[in-house]
Parts: sequence; C-alpha cells; structure tokens
Amino acid sequence: MKKIAVFPGSFDPFTKGHENVVHKAMNLFDEIIISIGVNSTKSSYYSLESRKKHILSLFENNPKISVQSYQSLTTEFCKVNQANYILRGLRDVKDFEYERSISQMNHALSPEIETVFLITDPIFNHLNSSIIREIAKNGGVIDNFVTNAQILVTTL
Ligand code: ADP
Repeated sequence: MKKIAVFPGSFDPFTKGHENVVHKAMNLFDEIIISIGVNSTKSSYYSLESRKKHILSLFENNPKISVQSYQSLTTEFCKVNQANYILRGLRDVKDFEYERSISQMNHALSPEIETVFLITDPIFNHLNSSIIREIAKNGGVIDNFVTNAQILVTTL
C-alpha cells in the first residue's frame, strides 16, 4: 500500500520552515499532499489561489508532491485521498501541546490515521507565518523567510 501523507495547514504564507518539513518527509512517504485548510469564518492575508501557486512553484519538479485546498475535517479529507498519515511540524513545546491535542482528537475520530511529527532544522525554528504576515503588512521584506515570496498576492 502506498504511504500517502496529508500536510495540512493555513500556509498563510508557506515558509521555509514548512518547506524544510516537506523536504524531510519526502524520504518517508510515497506521496505528500500539501493541503491548505480553508476556514469560511477566517479570512486569509494571502489569496488561496496565490498560496497554491506559490507552494507549487517550490516543488514543481517533484512528482511526489501535490497541493490541494479543503474545507472539511482533516480526517475526512485524508480518507477521500486514501492518506493514512497526517504530517505536522514541531518547533517548540507550545507547538507540542497544541499538536498533541489535535492529533489525539483526530485519532479519536479516525484511529486508522496516524499523525507524524517532524522537528524543523534549528535555523527555521523562529519562522512563524503570523509574524511574517505582520512584517509584510508593515512593508517589510520577507524574502529571507519565504522562498519565491513574489508569487504571493494579498487579499486586501
Ligand atoms: P495551522 O494554521 O494549522 O497551525 P500553519 O500553516 O501555521 O497551520 O502550520 C502548519 C504546520 O506547520 C503546523 O504543524 C505547524 O506547527 C508547522 N510549522 C509552522 N511553522 C513551522 C516551522 N518554522 N518549522 C516547522 N514546522 C512549522
């Protein structure tokens, strides 16, 4: 059976930290679906279309990686895509506490789906999408934190 992982997130924007997690996971899975969760009550800073285009640009020569968006429960989205793994990244204990709750809830919903956590390389530890958005909103340059940042288009 193929090992398919869903890497869910808001990816608003997809940072070098997320990129690092995907690169590490490539050796573990046959396919990785980078899955942008769309929350109808929460607006994003970067448009969904540009976030998709941006992530695709980072992995365009890699047939293992695809990008999708979804609105359902993550576990339901996994089932539709025959994915038995959820991939998440960990930076610190704060991430750990939060991620543990989500993974245990997901496990209660769908015991056949396992969450796999990868710890980012230390140089990407400080990267955080919400801080990067604040920098961008205030006119700062985010190129050191986001590869191909020029592809992103804001919704404002
Ligand atoms: P969410 O809105 O679901 O928290 P994010 O887009 O912020 O989505 O993050 C998606 C996943 O990537 C989460 O597991 C998060 O902990 C992880 N992540 C975010 N930034 C980094 C980073 N710099 N290094 C490693 N993992 C990260």
